[in-house]
This record gives sequence, C-alpha cells and structure tokens, in this order.
Amino acid sequence: MIISIKDISDSGWHLEFELDTSSINKRVNFDTRSSILDYFFKIPPKANLNINLQGETVFINGEVISSFISPCSRCLKEIETKLLTKITLTLKPKKNSNSKKHQNEEIEDLNLSYYTGVEINLGEIVEEELILNLPQVLTCKKESLKECKKRSEEMKSYFTSKNKDEIADERLAILKTLKVD
Ligand SMILES: [Zn+2]
Repeated sequence: MIISIKDISDSGWHLEFELDTSSINKRVNFDTRSSILDYFFKIPPKANLNINLQGETVFINGEVISSFISPCSRCLKEIETKLLTKITLTLKPKKNSNSKKHQNEEIEDLNLSYYTGVEINLGEIVEEELILNLPQVLTCKKESLKECKKRSEEMKSYFTSKNKDEIADERLAILKTLKVD
C-alpha cells in the first residue's frame, strides 16, 4: 500500500487495507520452515487509518487488528493472540540540507519519522509498527494454567531423561546446551 502525498485531500483520507502475511511471517521468524514458529499470522492484519496532511507533515492515526499463533513460553503449546495495535505517527519530509541539528532534536520523538520523495509506503510503516509492538512473552491463559504447568513439567522431565542428541527439533536444540545433571 503506497500512497502519493498529493492524493491526501484537505479533509484527510480514511484508508482500510490488509497487510501481506507472507511478508510479516518472514520478518518475525528466523526460519519459516521450522516446526515451531515464533509468530504465525494466518490471516492478514487489517489496518484502519486516517491520514492527514498539514503543510508537508503527514499525520497517521489509527489501528491494526491482527491475530497470530505463537508458542506458549512455558509449555510450547500453540496459542492464539488477538492484538490491537494503535498507530500514531508523524512523518516529515527528509531534508539532508543544513537542518541536521533540528532533525537530531526531533529524532528523540519515537512517533516521528521521515519520508523521502512524494510517496509513502504505508504498508511498510504499518508492518513495522505492528512488529515493534508484538508481545515478547506469551503464556497460556489463566484458566489453562494447570495444564500449562503440567505440560512444561512433562517437557522438562522428557528432556532430562532423553539422550540430548535425540532432540531433533531445531528450535528445541537450544535445550541441548543446558546442563541437566
Ligand atoms: Zn502453556
């Protein structure tokens, strides 16, 4: 989703579009062929945005609704998480002239970024925001905490009893380096 700055009318622009799942899945997983993925987006996240232009400054406000599957950090069971990511961004044209000092001051503002040329790649910006806001640690919900703990105990005892070389899954390979005696 690429928009032209000149297409933003005075009354603003309301845009709804879907993000590309294959692009996101590739970016959030080190190896997409692994049997356990860090995050898996089955359906395209939906962006709902308002774009406004003031002078050369572009304001982007809205949200992205997504749903993804990820392994529970404790028991590795796949859990589905629905996520609403708020988007609030200010984009200014990038000028490489003598306004450097000014830009350095403004870079402190996390909601501020820059665009070059006459177009803005909204899809890329929204994808970036979504990925930055993904929760790092996800565990089974409270109501299944008992099963979660049981599974994690089972897993621990499985790996302590098993010959470490038999651990085939690449993702679990890290467990081989753990000292278990
Ligand atoms: Zn769990």
